[in-house]
Amino acid sequence: MDTQMLIGSRFEKGTETEEHILNPKTGETVTDLPEASLSQVDAAVDAAEKAFKSWSQTTPAERSSYLLRIADAIEKDAAAFAALEALNCGKPINSVLNDEIPAIVDCYRFFAGAVRNLHGPAAGEYLPGHTSMIRRDPIGIVGSIAPWNYPLMMMAWKLAPAIAGGNTVVFKPSEQTPLTALKMAKLLSDILPEGVVNVILGRGESVGNALINHAKVNMVSITGDVATGKKVLQAAAKTVKRTHLELGGKAPVIVFDDADIDAVVAGIRTFGYYNAGQDCTAACRIYADAKVYDNFVADLSSAVASIRFNQADDTENEIGPLISRRQRDRVESFVARASEHKHMEITTGGKVSGDKGFFFTPTVISGALQDDEIVRREVFGPVVSVTRFSEVDDAIAWANDSDYGLASSVWTRDIGRGMKTAARLQYGCTWINTHFMLVNEMPHGGLKQSGYGKDMSVYALEDYTAVRHVMINHG
Ligand code: NAD
Repeated sequence: MDTQMLIGSRFEKGTETEEHILNPKTGETVTDLPEASLSQVDAAVDAAEKAFKSWSQTTPAERSSYLLRIADAIEKDAAAFAALEALNCGKPINSVLNDEIPAIVDCYRFFAGAVRNLHGPAAGEYLPGHTSMIRRDPIGIVGSIAPWNYPLMMMAWKLAPAIAGGNTVVFKPSEQTPLTALKMAKLLSDILPEGVVNVILGRGESVGNALINHAKVNMVSITGDVATGKKVLQAAAKTVKRTHLELGGKAPVIVFDDADIDAVVAGIRTFGYYNAGQDCTAACRIYADAKVYDNFVADLSSAVASIRFNQADDTENEIGPLISRRQRDRVESFVARASEHKHMEITTGGKVSGDKGFFFTPTVISGALQDDEIVRREVFGPVVSVTRFSEVDDAIAWANDSDYGLASSVWTRDIGRGMKTAARLQYGCTWINTHFMLVNEMPHGGLKQSGYGKDMSVYALEDYTAVRHVMINHG
């Protein structure tokens, strides 16, 4: 197991407080990793600054070939990466190996191609005797901070467009899930020039805080909680850093009376509970037409009760535990507070499962109303609420009535109705008759307090590069 941070070409341990890295399936400690000191944060930023001079001058083709080598190396070592991610996050091995790793490899390959195909307005003589052209140049040093729910994938989403765009990076994984980032540090140091990517460990309030406030960091990219995003914005204001914020979500799902209910049930069973619901796009807030509501709740509850988890043979598991005891307790307290209200019913699940690890039973809460906490706040666990609607306008208004604006879905057999509804939803993404599906060619990112800035797609490459105008006087 790799346990050292990467600063320039040096591998070293942090010198400060140790963090217990846990196996969420058992609650046992896998290893203890000390966090970086402030001088180690400075050294990582200095290494990124030094590397920027030559990395920013490489051609897109050169950077592309590095990204392709990174993709190949991850693919070659997929089984080991998957095993480590499964250990640190409690994810079922098949989910990591078959869903996440191919998408991660494809992310590096996508940006390897995209950086060679940037487009912009035509160069020309917009002022007589002067030729103008648009450039897309790197921003500089990017401080990248990732959450714990998809550690290796978030690292790919942040690193690939940043380094493709010619930036250098100081990357901090979540203090809870650093293991695959440390393995990546080894892989990256074998492939990339010194200092292009540096990996440091530590908690948000110490190491993260030092990174977002660092005067030499030109851009901060963070995926995390809304409260954390606000701290990034405050810090960024001091030196006017560029920010890229992927924050929380509370995805509404509108189920019309003409929807294929079996497909909706199968969809929510998967997309509401994948990664134990620890997903900012999780299909967790359902609005079902009164005409289909009762059957839908009954079918969904029995389907969700059949989700397999905490089996000794991990290949049978569909979902894992929550990431930590704290997160599990938080989920439990949301459900406990909902169950105190007479109008809501827990139709399946609703309790902690097993005597070790951080498992929570997949849960459906029916009868939820728009103002209920369970409808409004991000639970980030295997809990889906269902709300009845009679008027389509109510369903759309309720769906939009949220501080979040990341993802949403509409289920109907009438594609015109689906399209009309999609046009009225204020979300970074709306799926019709599916949910959760992402592709590297298309952007992922939010509106409102879900943040701004896109991951994946050419839009991410635009976010990690600066538009510049160069004008030539013909003389
Ligand atoms: P978090 O905000 O607590 O932590 C995220 C990262 O930020 C961690 O690396 C943490 O160490 C760091 N951090 C925390 N406080 C900081 C500070 N003051 N300064 C600098 N860095 C700091 O979030 P989490 O609990 O790890 O992740 C769950 C959250 O992430 C959820 O709210 C979820 O919705 C969100 N999320 C969003 C997306 C998206 O694409 N929009 C994807 C995954 C997760």
